[in-house]
Amino acid sequence: MKKNRTLMNDLPEPVPEAMKAAYDEALTAGARGEIPVGAAIYDPEAERIVARSGNRSVELNDPGAHAEMLAIRAACAALGASRLPGLDLYVTLEPCTMCAAAISFARLRRLYFGAFDEKGGGVCHGARFYEQPTCHHAPEVYGGIDRSACAELLQQFFAGRRGGA
Ligand SMILES: [Zn+2]
Repeated sequence: MKKNRTLMNDLPEPVPEAMKAAYDEALTAGARGEIPVGAAIYDPEAERIVARSGNRSVELNDPGAHAEMLAIRAACAALGASRLPGLDLYVTLEPCTMCAAAISFARLRRLYFGAFDEKGGGVCHGARFYEQPTCHHAPEVYGGIDRSACAELLQQFFAGRRGGA
């Protein structure tokens, strides 16, 4: 992995509860036939998970129904707010550019993600959204938390698909 100026160096140890919640959401998304990605939004001050979701693109016929988008919408609805400053988003996979932008628009404090996504990521790959001058709020980014478990979920899912399961 190339050195990346978006990433913070110190990963949280042990794996935080919110990351485990995101992982659980990814598991259940996979069981629903969705690409297994899950997200959770955590309030570090109240020490509680505000919202959590898995991918629902297939179920909702919505290419934008990624786990991060749904978790952000649910957190905003729960808090009656259009922005989520001070809150952190945990997701099992490096967000795509759309989700990276939504995280910025929501003014989330930190982004913690699991597996890196060379093909579809927009944080450390592709658009590198937070490094662009057109990005007006960048969260602190921590990537690679529990990455092997998160990546394995996806690998198993796509291997199953190729095998016709
Ligand atoms: Zn996305």
